[in-house]
Amino acid sequence: MRDWLSHRVAATPDRRALIHAPTGDSWTFRELDGLVTETAGQLAALGIEAGDHLGVVLDPGIDYVRLIHAATRLGAVLVPLSERLTPDEIRRNIEIADVTTLVCGESTESTAVEATTDVPVVSVDEPHWEGVINLSAIAPKRISPAGWTLSETMLLLFTSGTTGTPKAVRLTMGNLLANAVAGSFRLGLSPDDRWLVTLSLHHMGGIGPILRSPLYGTTIVLREGFDAGGAADDIGKYDVTGVSLVPTMLTRMLDSRGTLSDSLRVVLLGGAPASDELIERCRNYSVPVYPTYGMTETASQVATATPREAFSAVGTVGRPLFFTDLSVIGEGGFIVEPGTPGEIVVSGPTVSPGYYRNPDATAKAFTDEGLRTGDIGYRDEDGLLYVLNRKDDRIITGGENVDPGEVVEVLRQYPAIDDAVVLGIPDSEWGERVSALVVPSDPDISLDRDALDTFCREQLAGFKVPRLVETADELPRTVSGTVDREAVREQLEAARPVTEAEPEWDG
Ligand code: ATP
Ligand code: MG
Repeated sequence: MRDWLSHRVAATPDRRALIHAPTGDSWTFRELDGLVTETAGQLAALGIEAGDHLGVVLDPGIDYVRLIHAATRLGAVLVPLSERLTPDEIRRNIEIADVTTLVCGESTESTAVEATTDVPVVSVDEPHWEGVINLSAIAPKRISPAGWTLSETMLLLFTSGTTGTPKAVRLTMGNLLANAVAGSFRLGLSPDDRWLVTLSLHHMGGIGPILRSPLYGTTIVLREGFDAGGAADDIGKYDVTGVSLVPTMLTRMLDSRGTLSDSLRVVLLGGAPASDELIERCRNYSVPVYPTYGMTETASQVATATPREAFSAVGTVGRPLFFTDLSVIGEGGFIVEPGTPGEIVVSGPTVSPGYYRNPDATAKAFTDEGLRTGDIGYRDEDGLLYVLNRKDDRIITGGENVDPGEVVEVLRQYPAIDDAVVLGIPDSEWGERVSALVVPSDPDISLDRDALDTFCREQLAGFKVPRLVETADELPRTVSGTVDREAVREQLEAARPVTEAEPEWDG
């Protein structure tokens, strides 16, 4: 098969492919194909060919979309890199991924130049540095679209690096095709769909919709970054029907605009756990939320809940996608009973063949039984999946495993608590002590810790009940909006030692 855009042009050339949200400019598939042909021809004239690794460090925009399709047109492997990385981080990533040419733009040129002396740097804007190639000044070469087999690597995408150094995940044509097909089965597909892209293009959540648009024949509405009010307004302005968001984005959009345009058919919400409160807000404001669980290694979605499932089983990420087999494995390597937490293991055609040139990490995660996700979750009696926390975050107290996510679920149900983080603080007696940082719903009323303790004991085995509970006005967060567990740890470790008598050990 060729790149999907060249097949799409033969099918529906005059349908709208792309709308640039900041200006309202738009392109049909035929027009987009013209831009991509030019970019691909220019890259070819620079000597880029099938199998080359094309690094991209660029702000989101039309040039980025052209590069994504141009790489596929040439048979080159696209390596998107975050535009927020430092030169040292870029250097490390281009070494890990064997990048052969690095493409940058006006705002990333100095970083790109500082990052490398070994590979050619090409800019999509007028270059400022000597030695940087001006892509638009290159006369395009005539090329014919490359042919792809399902097992060829299309993308090397870096993981977020939550649990260590980011790894470069190989995503093949087959992985991306299976993800696109299964995604449309779960979310539905209409020829009039318009998908708003406001997530970073170096993650599947951002680049995924752009790759899929020519396959589906649907329109992309592209924003240049995220701001809550602007993203919410663009949904109404452009009659957007679908959008992928992480929970903090959706919270901020609802905070700023109350609700979202009723043009929306799908709000795909993933990347981190969505709070029960956020799901409730979606229900109250008729936001069609599809909570999803996924990762780079599976080309995004593993399981996705429909709004009906999300509203009736709050906290679930639904059922595995078509083609994806999912099991929850206990300590001994056996599948656990419904309701029992264990590691989520997945297999199927969306699962990557492994990390690029990293046999150790590949052997650890990609096993004969499937991909060991490192995430802990459980399935209920109906088969719906719930994700609790990462395996690394498990607390071991008095020899017992505690999944902090399970404790967080209980704390969040407590009426006087809005949100919570739970982690283990080193303890000479128990190894670790289950500890919580909670956000009270009313900052003026002090938390009744005894009542909270009783509430927890009714729902959790004694060894899972938090021994230390501290309060905060809000949870510390990282730049990407996820809870900053290290900051929570520091706060809890600095907290006064528990002076009351220790609760009885009943584990
Ligand atoms: P690294 O693998 O480098 O440590 P990362 O796992 O954060 O980084 P990504 O592939 O971007 O990199 O993120 C996937 C992870 O995000 C999942 O493995 C899971 O831990 C978390 N995640 C995704 N969706 C959800 C969800 N709905 N609920 C809870 N966690 C989620
Ligand atoms: Mg990961």
